[in-house]
Parts: sequence; C-alpha cells; structure tokens
Amino acid sequence: MAGEPQDDCLFCKIVGGHVPATIVRETETTVAFRDINPQAPTHVLVIPKAHYENAAALAAAEPALAADVLREAQAVADEEKLESYRTVFNTGSGAGQTVWHAHAHVLGGRGLQWPPG
Ligand code: 5GP
Ligand code: ZN
Repeated sequence: MAGEPQDDCLFCKIVGGHVPATIVRETETTVAFRDINPQAPTHVLVIPKAHYENAAALAAAEPALAADVLREAQAVADEEKLESYRTVFNTGSGAGQTVWHAHAHVLGGRGLQWPPG
C-alpha cells in the first residue's frame, strides 16, 4: 500500500529505529537527521515517515505531508541559525538520487554556488 514501510529501505529503517542516525528533529509525520556524508557544515535530510519513492510521488499522494517536509526544512534552518540555505530533492539516478525514499537535503553554513554542478 502507498506510504507503507519497505523492508529494504534504509530510511524506513531509520524511521523504525533499526539503523542509527543523528536525529535533529522529529514530528508525528517527519524525521530530520544529519547526512552521513555532509556536503556543507549543515547537511540535514528531512524525510516523511511514510515511504514514497521521491518528492513527486509524495506530493501526489499526500500533499499535506509534502508540506510538512518543507516546513521542517525551515525549522531545521531556524535551529541551525541559517540565514540562507538550499533545499534539494534529487529525483532519479541521473540527478544523483541514491535512496528511494523521498528526502529533502537542507544545506547551509557555507557559500553555495548557483547554478550547481
Ligand atoms: P540522494 O543521493 O538519494 O539524494 O541522497 C541520499 C543521501 O543519504 C546522501 O547524501 C547520503 O550521504 C545519505 N546517506 C546514505 N546512507 C546514509 C546513512 O546510513 N545514514 C545517513 N544519515 N545518511 C545516509
Ligand atoms: Zn522508505
């Protein structure tokens, strides 16, 4: 069923507490934790607890939950005292997606180039 936990999904395992992570925020519907391979002084991943393969699938199935993820990205930025930050959703392997559970990267704490590489 859409949104159900997947046994083979790393981020579902983090949600379930079966894989450790440095959690910085948690709500009823979302978890935010530090990326294991940070690309900036702040690099936090915000995920819905429900499993959707990417941001578009999440937004199509549960728009309110997609909004929760965006709200939490701002909450992370506030907690980390970031005036500027970038929110990234990689969709598809050609764009660098490696984990097939929707997640927002929240990056900040250094200058960020635009356009990105
Ligand atoms: P993607 O490449 O799919 O957009 O982002 C996946 C992110 O998950 C990568 O930035 C990667 O460093 C991070 N990641 C992969 N495995 C783990 C893990 O076990 N723990 C944490 N905290 N982050 C992970
Ligand atoms: Zn998952």
